[in-house]
Amino acid sequence: MSYDPQNIFAKILRGEIPCDRVFENEHALAFNDIRPQAPVHVLIIPKGDYESSSDFAAKASPEEIAGFMRAVHAVAEKAGVLDSGYRLIANAGEDGRQEVQHFHIHLIGGRRLGAMLPPSR
Ligand code: AMP
Repeated sequence: MSYDPQNIFAKILRGEIPCDRVFENEHALAFNDIRPQAPVHVLIIPKGDYESSSDFAAKASPEEIAGFMRAVHAVAEKAGVLDSGYRLIANAGEDGRQEVQHFHIHLIGGRRLGAMLPPSR
């Protein structure tokens, strides 16, 4: 599969649709999820065209990877969950039920989270 520049996060990056921005650096943008699953639910996306975590790991430069991971940390710090804890989730592919085909990490926290995986459905 090749990267689809019409995916919704690509449109957010181009400023074609708005987002509730939380943090930004040279290599990453973070914004609140439109359907939050917890008091803190932020999506962190790289600025480059990467469709999945594997695509990002294989093709991104060391600077992009470092900038992205520093953005994840900055979001946790800004959201005030460094001490209370949080969860990072990166869905990929069919089984992982990735809906938006631009790599992203969900940072979720602000309450005691449930089991890592819900019962199978
Ligand atoms: P995933 O299943 O990991 O691909 O998750 C995609 C996430 O993107 C979901 O949690 C959606 O609620 C979220 N989402 C979709 N469109 C938007 C948007 N325009 N702004 C913010 N979050 C969005």
